Amino acid sequence: MISFIVLLGPPGAGKGTQAKMISEKACVPHISTGDILREAVRKDSPLGREAKAVMDRGELVSDSLLVNIIIERLSRSDCANGFLLDGYPRNISQSQTLEKVCSEHNIWDKVYALEISVPDEEIVDRLKNRRSCPSCGAVYNIVSNPPKQDAACDGCSTKLQLRDDDREETVRQRLTVYHERTEPVVGYFAERKKHLVVKGEGSPENIFAAIMEKLK
Ligand code: AMP
Repeated sequence: MISFIVLLGPPGAGKGTQAKMISEKACVPHISTGDILREAVRKDSPLGREAKAVMDRGELVSDSLLVNIIIERLSRSDCANGFLLDGYPRNISQSQTLEKVCSEHNIWDKVYALEISVPDEEIVDRLKNRRSCPSCGAVYNIVSNPPKQDAACDGCSTKLQLRDDDREETVRQRLTVYHERTEPVVGYFAERKKHLVVKGEGSPENIFAAIMEKLK
Protein backbone atom coordinates (compact mmCIF):
# COMPACT_ATOMS: atom_id res chain seq x y z
CA MET A 1 0.00 0.00 0.00
CA ILE A 2 1.16 3.54 -0.77
CA SER A 3 1.92 5.24 2.54
CA PHE A 4 3.79 8.43 1.53
CA ILE A 5 0.81 10.46 0.41
CA VAL A 6 0.35 14.06 -0.70
CA LEU A 7 -3.31 14.96 -0.64
CA LEU A 8 -4.32 17.45 -3.34
CA GLY A 9 -7.63 19.09 -4.17
CA PRO A 10 -9.40 22.43 -3.82
CA PRO A 11 -10.25 23.88 -0.39
CA GLY A 12 -13.38 22.13 0.85
CA ALA A 13 -12.81 18.95 -1.18
CA GLY A 14 -12.89 16.96 2.07
CA LYS A 15 -9.11 16.63 2.42
CA GLY A 16 -9.20 17.13 6.19
CA THR A 17 -11.90 14.50 6.72
CA GLN A 18 -10.26 11.98 4.40
CA ALA A 19 -6.80 12.74 5.80
CA LYS A 20 -7.91 11.71 9.30
CA MET A 21 -9.41 8.46 8.00
CA ILE A 22 -6.42 7.62 5.78
CA SER A 23 -3.81 8.40 8.44
CA GLU A 24 -5.62 6.18 10.95
CA LYS A 25 -5.93 3.32 8.48
CA ALA A 26 -2.36 3.60 7.19
CA CYS A 27 -0.91 4.42 10.66
CA VAL A 28 0.95 7.47 9.35
CA PRO A 29 1.02 11.02 10.77
CA HIS A 30 -1.44 13.56 9.34
CA ILE A 31 0.51 16.74 8.61
CA SER A 32 -1.69 19.72 7.75
CA THR A 33 0.10 23.01 7.07
CA GLY A 34 -3.25 24.82 7.46
CA ASP A 35 -3.63 23.32 10.97
CA ILE A 36 -0.02 24.21 11.84
CA LEU A 37 -0.63 27.81 10.72
CA ARG A 38 -4.00 28.09 12.52
CA GLU A 39 -2.38 26.81 15.71
CA ALA A 40 0.35 29.45 15.32
CA VAL A 41 -2.34 32.15 14.87
CA ARG A 42 -4.18 30.89 17.95
CA LYS A 43 -0.99 31.04 20.01
CA ASP A 44 -0.15 34.47 18.54
CA SER A 45 3.39 33.27 17.78
CA PRO A 46 5.65 35.24 15.38
CA LEU A 47 4.70 32.77 12.60
CA GLY A 48 1.00 33.21 13.42
CA ARG A 49 1.25 37.01 13.44
CA GLU A 50 2.91 36.97 10.04
CA ALA A 51 0.43 34.48 8.53
CA LYS A 52 -2.94 35.69 9.87
CA ALA A 53 -3.73 38.59 7.54
CA VAL A 54 -2.66 36.60 4.47
CA MET A 55 -4.79 33.62 5.52
CA ASP A 56 -7.82 35.83 6.20
CA ARG A 57 -7.56 37.16 2.64
CA GLY A 58 -7.53 33.58 1.29
CA GLU A 59 -4.04 33.96 -0.16
CA LEU A 60 -0.98 31.75 0.28
CA VAL A 61 1.57 32.56 2.97
CA SER A 62 5.12 32.90 1.63
CA ASP A 63 7.04 29.72 0.86
CA SER A 64 9.86 30.79 3.17
CA LEU A 65 7.53 30.72 6.20
CA LEU A 66 6.82 27.03 5.63
CA VAL A 67 10.05 25.60 4.32
CA ASN A 68 11.73 25.03 7.71
CA ILE A 69 8.49 23.72 9.19
CA ILE A 70 8.28 21.09 6.43
CA ILE A 71 11.96 20.14 6.63
CA GLU A 72 11.73 19.72 10.41
CA ARG A 73 8.40 17.87 10.38
CA LEU A 74 9.37 15.37 7.67
CA SER A 75 12.65 14.62 9.47
CA ARG A 76 10.90 13.34 12.59
CA SER A 77 11.05 9.61 13.17
CA ASP A 78 7.26 9.18 12.90
CA CYS A 79 7.56 9.93 9.15
CA ALA A 80 9.99 7.08 8.48
CA ASN A 81 7.25 4.71 7.33
CA GLY A 82 4.91 7.18 5.73
CA PHE A 83 3.05 10.46 6.03
CA LEU A 84 -0.10 12.10 4.86
CA LEU A 85 0.60 15.65 3.76
CA ASP A 86 -2.49 17.85 3.62
CA GLY A 87 -2.17 21.40 2.27
CA TYR A 88 1.44 21.16 1.08
CA PRO A 89 2.73 21.62 -1.62
CA ARG A 90 0.54 24.51 -2.82
CA ASN A 91 2.69 25.67 -5.76
CA ILE A 92 5.53 24.47 -7.98
CA SER A 93 8.26 25.89 -5.78
CA GLN A 94 6.89 24.00 -2.74
CA SER A 95 6.70 20.84 -4.90
CA GLN A 96 10.41 21.23 -5.70
CA THR A 97 11.16 21.70 -1.99
CA LEU A 98 9.21 18.56 -1.16
CA GLU A 99 10.99 16.56 -3.86
CA LYS A 100 14.36 17.74 -2.53
CA VAL A 101 13.56 16.97 1.13
CA CYS A 102 12.11 13.54 0.28
CA SER A 103 15.05 12.71 -2.02
CA GLU A 104 17.42 13.52 0.84
CA HIS A 105 15.50 11.03 3.00
CA ASN A 106 15.51 8.48 0.12
CA ILE A 107 11.73 8.27 0.06
CA TRP A 108 10.81 10.29 -3.06
CA ASP A 109 10.28 7.07 -5.08
CA LYS A 110 7.50 6.11 -2.65
CA VAL A 111 5.67 9.45 -2.65
CA TYR A 112 2.37 9.73 -4.58
CA ALA A 113 -0.15 12.54 -4.91
CA LEU A 114 -3.80 11.70 -4.44
CA GLU A 115 -6.15 14.33 -5.84
CA ILE A 116 -9.73 14.68 -4.59
CA SER A 117 -11.59 16.50 -7.37
CA VAL A 118 -14.78 18.52 -6.75
CA PRO A 119 -16.45 21.19 -8.97
CA ASP A 120 -16.18 24.85 -7.82
CA GLU A 121 -19.90 25.51 -7.21
CA GLU A 122 -20.15 22.46 -4.95
CA ILE A 123 -17.15 23.80 -2.99
CA VAL A 124 -18.72 27.24 -2.43
CA ASP A 125 -21.91 25.60 -1.15
CA ARG A 126 -20.01 23.29 1.17
CA LEU A 127 -17.67 25.84 2.71
CA LYS A 128 -20.18 28.53 3.52
CA ASN A 129 -22.09 25.86 5.50
CA ARG A 130 -18.99 24.42 7.15
CA ARG A 131 -18.52 24.94 10.89
CA SER A 132 -15.36 23.93 12.73
CA CYS A 133 -14.64 23.29 16.38
CA PRO A 134 -11.79 25.60 17.44
CA SER A 135 -10.97 23.26 20.33
CA CYS A 136 -10.81 19.71 18.91
CA GLY A 137 -10.84 20.43 15.16
CA ALA A 138 -14.07 18.48 14.42
CA VAL A 139 -15.77 19.65 11.24
CA TYR A 140 -19.55 19.85 10.58
CA ASN A 141 -21.82 21.02 7.78
CA ILE A 142 -24.95 22.76 9.03
CA VAL A 143 -26.97 21.25 6.15
CA SER A 144 -25.52 17.79 5.45
CA ASN A 145 -23.82 16.90 8.75
CA PRO A 146 -25.17 19.16 11.53
CA PRO A 147 -24.07 18.87 15.18
CA LYS A 148 -26.57 17.29 17.59
CA GLN A 149 -26.92 20.46 19.66
CA ASP A 150 -27.29 23.71 17.80
CA ALA A 151 -23.89 25.32 17.08
CA ALA A 152 -21.93 23.23 19.63
CA CYS A 153 -19.37 20.48 19.06
CA ASP A 154 -20.74 16.95 19.70
CA GLY A 155 -17.42 15.84 21.19
CA CYS A 156 -16.42 18.72 23.47
CA SER A 157 -19.44 21.12 23.47
CA THR A 158 -17.27 24.06 22.34
CA LYS A 159 -19.13 26.71 20.31
CA LEU A 160 -18.60 26.01 16.60
CA GLN A 161 -17.15 28.70 14.34
CA LEU A 162 -17.28 29.69 10.70
CA ARG A 163 -13.58 29.98 9.80
CA ASP A 164 -12.74 33.52 8.66
CA ASP A 165 -11.51 32.08 5.37
CA ASP A 166 -14.74 30.08 4.80
CA ARG A 167 -16.76 33.26 4.06
CA GLU A 168 -18.12 33.18 0.50
CA GLU A 169 -15.92 35.96 -1.00
CA THR A 170 -12.85 34.41 0.60
CA VAL A 171 -13.79 30.95 -0.63
CA ARG A 172 -14.00 32.31 -4.20
CA GLN A 173 -10.58 33.93 -3.74
CA ARG A 174 -9.15 30.66 -2.40
CA LEU A 175 -10.54 28.83 -5.45
CA THR A 176 -8.92 31.35 -7.79
CA VAL A 177 -5.61 30.87 -5.96
CA TYR A 178 -6.11 27.10 -6.15
CA HIS A 179 -6.62 27.11 -9.93
CA GLU A 180 -3.75 29.50 -10.61
CA ARG A 181 -1.12 28.28 -8.16
CA THR A 182 -1.98 24.80 -6.88
CA GLU A 183 -3.49 23.05 -9.92
CA PRO A 184 -0.05 23.04 -11.61
CA VAL A 185 1.09 20.85 -8.70
CA VAL A 186 -1.22 18.14 -10.07
CA GLY A 187 0.72 18.39 -13.36
CA TYR A 188 4.02 18.24 -11.47
CA PHE A 189 3.10 14.85 -9.99
CA ALA A 190 1.40 13.63 -13.20
CA GLU A 191 4.56 14.31 -15.25
CA ARG A 192 6.46 12.16 -12.75
CA LYS A 193 3.80 9.39 -12.95
CA LYS A 194 2.88 9.96 -9.32
CA HIS A 195 -0.71 11.18 -9.69
CA LEU A 196 -3.86 9.38 -8.54
CA VAL A 197 -7.36 10.91 -8.59
CA VAL A 198 -10.77 10.19 -7.04
CA LYS A 199 -14.07 12.08 -7.29
CA GLY A 200 -14.82 13.87 -4.02
CA GLU A 201 -18.63 13.66 -4.26
CA GLY A 202 -20.80 11.27 -2.26
CA SER A 203 -20.56 10.11 1.33
CA PRO A 204 -17.20 10.37 3.15
CA GLU A 205 -17.26 6.56 3.57
CA ASN A 206 -17.68 5.94 -0.18
CA ILE A 207 -14.95 8.44 -1.06
CA PHE A 208 -12.69 6.77 1.51
CA ALA A 209 -13.38 3.35 -0.07
CA ALA A 210 -12.43 4.75 -3.51
CA ILE A 211 -9.23 6.20 -2.02
CA MET A 212 -8.28 2.89 -0.43
CA GLU A 213 -8.66 1.19 -3.83
CA LYS A 214 -6.27 3.72 -5.40
CA LEU A 215 -3.69 3.38 -2.62
CA LYS A 216 -3.55 -0.44 -2.86
P1 AMP B 1 -5.97 24.96 4.50
O1 AMP B 1 -6.55 24.60 5.84
O2 AMP B 1 -5.02 23.92 3.98
O3 AMP B 1 -7.03 25.34 3.49
O4 AMP B 1 -5.07 26.27 4.73
C1 AMP B 1 -5.64 27.47 5.20
C2 AMP B 1 -4.78 28.64 4.76
O5 AMP B 1 -3.44 28.49 5.29
C3 AMP B 1 -4.56 28.78 3.25
O6 AMP B 1 -5.63 29.48 2.61
C4 AMP B 1 -3.25 29.55 3.19
O7 AMP B 1 -3.44 30.93 3.49
C5 AMP B 1 -2.47 28.94 4.35
N1 AMP B 1 -1.67 27.77 3.91
C6 AMP B 1 -1.82 26.47 4.30
N2 AMP B 1 -0.91 25.68 3.71
C7 AMP B 1 -0.16 26.50 2.92
C8 AMP B 1 0.94 26.29 2.04
N3 AMP B 1 1.44 25.08 1.82
N4 AMP B 1 1.47 27.38 1.41
C9 AMP B 1 0.98 28.61 1.62
N5 AMP B 1 -0.08 28.88 2.42
C10 AMP B 1 -0.64 27.85 3.07
